[in-house]
Amino acid sequence: MRNFLVTDILRIISHLILSVIPVISVQSFHTFQLQANAKRISSIDSIEDCRRYIGRKNGKDFILLGEGSNCVFVEDYNGEIVIPKLFGKSIEEDNSNFFVDASASENWHEFVIWLLANKVYGLENLALITGTVGASPIQNIGAYGIEVGQFISSVDYFDLTCGEIKTLDAQACNFGYRDSVFKGS
Ligand SMILES: Cc1cc2nc3c(=O)[nH]c(=O)nc-3n(C[C@H](O)[C@H](O)[C@H](O)COP(=O)(O)OP(=O)(O)OC[C@H]3O[C@@H](n4cnc5c(N)ncnc54)[C@H](O)[C@@H]3O)c2cc1C
Repeated sequence: MRNFLVTDILRIISHLILSVIPVISVQSFHTFQLQANAKRISSIDSIEDCRRYIGRKNGKDFILLGEGSNCVFVEDYNGEIVIPKLFGKSIEEDNSNFFVDASASENWHEFVIWLLANKVYGLENLALITGTVGASPIQNIGAYGIEVGQFISSVDYFDLTCGEIKTLDAQACNFGYRDSVFKGS
């Protein structure tokens, strides 16, 4: 009778643990599609949502993910995967320039195609590069002699240390070959 009770209690406890620590597959969130789990997957669709992560460190406490085309999960991640869902793009022009604004979650290739449809030229060598607009300055994506950093005048970002939106001009972005101030920060 005593043994029966202990077994039952253990069963209940293990059920409770499984209920409060859901295991979520990240397989469909990275292009290699290897099976791995994370503790949690969340999305952020406003600057207010970003405030939840103030003081936490991308890559350590959570992993920020675009389309997962430059990330591979080879094992379970005991943390939170955060996927921005920030969309929007616009074009303004004066006599000599186009001023293009694009949000982080826009698909990069579709963004390039949209620019061409609007007769804004220059990025066509970068068509078909996988991923999002938001990830493009991180490694300063490039192909066929062109790099996105050549066309970026500034990058807005949410500073996790103080919770403010900040802007870096192209020089401060420190673009190099597949490199920028954002890489590893
Ligand atoms: C088939 C293939 C072809 C490719 N060809 C090229 C090429 O020709 N040239 C080239 O330069 N690259 C190329 N790449 C690499 C890839 O396209 C880029 O690294 C791209 O920028 C990844 O975008 P993503 O949204 O998938 O980023 P993810 O893989 O999701 O993330 C990459 C890194 O950026 C960070 N990150 C993502 N989004 C944000 C954000 N909004 N804010 C802050 N950090 C963020 C992530 O934390 C992670 O560290 C290729 C990749 C593949 C798979």
